[in-house]
This record gives sequence, structure tokens and C-alpha cells, in this order.
Amino acid sequence: GAAIQLEHLTKAYPGSPVPAVDDVSMEIKAGETVVFVGPSGCGKSTTLKMINRLIEPTSGRIRIGDEDVTAIDPVGLRRKVGYAIQASGLFPHMSVAENIALVPKMTGWSRARTRERVAEMLDLVGLDPGEFHDRYPRQLSGGQQQRVGVARALAADPPVLLMDEPFGAVDPITRDHLQDELIRLQHELHKTIVFVTHDFDEAIKLGDRIAVLRERSHIAQFDTPEAILTN
Ligand code: ADP
Ligand code: ADP
Repeated sequence: GAAIQLEHLTKAYPGSPVPAVDDVSMEIKAGETVVFVGPSGCGKSTTLKMINRLIEPTSGRIRIGDEDVTAIDPVGLRRKVGYAIQASGLFPHMSVAENIALVPKMTGWSRARTRERVAEMLDLVGLDPGEFHDRYPRQLSGGQQQRVGVARALAADPPVLLMDEPFGAVDPITRDHLQDELIRLQHELHKTIVFVTHDFDEAIKLGDRIAVLRERSHIAQFDTPEAILTN
């Protein structure tokens, strides 16, 4: 069934003459990677933020599994939905380990289990736990910060992962490498991923299906990369 369902989702920011997201409906299946691709300002981030309730829709609704997001308690939602954004998303005053441990701690995991999980997550994203556990974000390269961001988003093993331009701030070679790693991770973990980018090549590379968005997140096309490339 659908892992995520958007129904007539609309967001009008106060004081803005046009809605940022206007009447968007779509179904995202369990285990697929859907990429939202579209120009800057078309409402991609706004849509992601509504899915994890960082902002409330003006109208419409969102279901995750068979639950309305408004019916899920905040900690439950953090456990269901991981969120990775650009490097700035790491808390600078917290070590790598503390950043990764955030949601597990919030959901009441024991110290021992959390500690083990942090090391496991660092391994998963290709960072040596011994070397990186106690570092601070400023002591990492851009690519390493992105890896920690992904490790943090996955730490509590959420079925859904939202990624907002997660590789937007790294150089092209590192980005290419991180994209390959995400594909490898996805083969291993089978998350339901919604990935936002303005980079069409990135969308084609990563998406099982791609939603090509126009202004106000109007869906111009929603199809496989193969179908999008031939249309
Ligand atoms: P994208 O992620 O596609 O770049 P956004 O969702 O960030 O687009 O923005 C969509 C539109 O909503 C833009 O016109 C942007 O200026 C506007 N917007 C975003 N956040 C806010 C906000 N907090 N208040 C008012 N307008 C906003
Ligand atoms: P990249 O070439 O990937 O951009 P950098 O040149 O930023 O990486 O860093 C190279 C290595 O030095 C990385 O392993 C990084 O973790 C480490 N490093 C960078 N800055 C610091 C710092 N302030 N303290 C400790 N190690 C650092």
C-alpha cells in the first residue's frame, strides 16, 4: 500500500499572495525512492516540512501508513520519519555521536543500545567510529558532515526518510560518491525515501520515480526515470 499519501495538500504562508504549495495529491509506495525535482522556490522544502510536521498545511491532509500525521505524537513521528538536510542541519555544539543519538535518546533507548547504534551508523555511512565519534561538525569536511546528517536521520531506523537537498553543499565529486552510497544504502535498507533536489541529473540517478514539479508544486510529470527521459 501507500507509505505516504498527500491529499489536496496546500500551504499558503501568511502574507504571501500565492500559495507555496497548491492542491498537491500523490501516493508514494513503501520502499520506493521518489525524487521531487523542480526549480528553486517551487515548494519542495515546504512539502517535505509538512510531511514531518515542521509546518502545518493550510488545507489538505497527509497519511503515513494508514495514519493521519496529525494523529501521530511528536516522538512517534520522529521515530517514523528521518530527516536529512544540508550540512547546517547538524547541531554545532554537539559532537558527531550526540547528533546521531538525538532521536534514539528522545525515544528512550538505553545508553548502551544508543552507543552501539551510533557506532553502527557511523560504519554504515563509511566513517570510522573511533576517529569520528567525538568530533564536532566544524571539524569535518562538507562530505563528512553530509554523512553524519544521513547517519542521524537513520539512527532510529525510521521506515520513512526525507532528504532535502542533502548533497547540495558538497563538491561535484563528493556528491557523486555520496549518491552512489545512498543507492547502496537503499539496496540494503529499503526505506521509503522522498528526496528533494533542483538537479535533474541527480533526480534521474536516484529516483525509482520522479515528480517533476512546477511552481506551487504543481506536478507536471510523475513517472520512472526511463519514462521521463523518453517524454
Ligand atoms: P523550494 O524548496 O522548492 O526551493 P520552498 O518550499 O522553500 O521552495 O519555497 C516555496 C515558496 O514559499 C517560495 O516562494 C518561498 O519564498 C516561500 N516560502 C518558503 N518559506 C517561507 C516562509 N517561512 N514564509 C513565507 N514564505 C516562504
Ligand atoms: P575534503 O577534502 O573532503 O573537503 P577536508 O580538506 O575538509 O576534506 O579535510 C580533510 C581531512 O581533515 C578530513 O578527514 C577532515 O575530517 C579532517 N579535518 C578537517 N578539518 C578538521 C579540523 N578542524 N579538525 C580536525 N580534523 C579536520
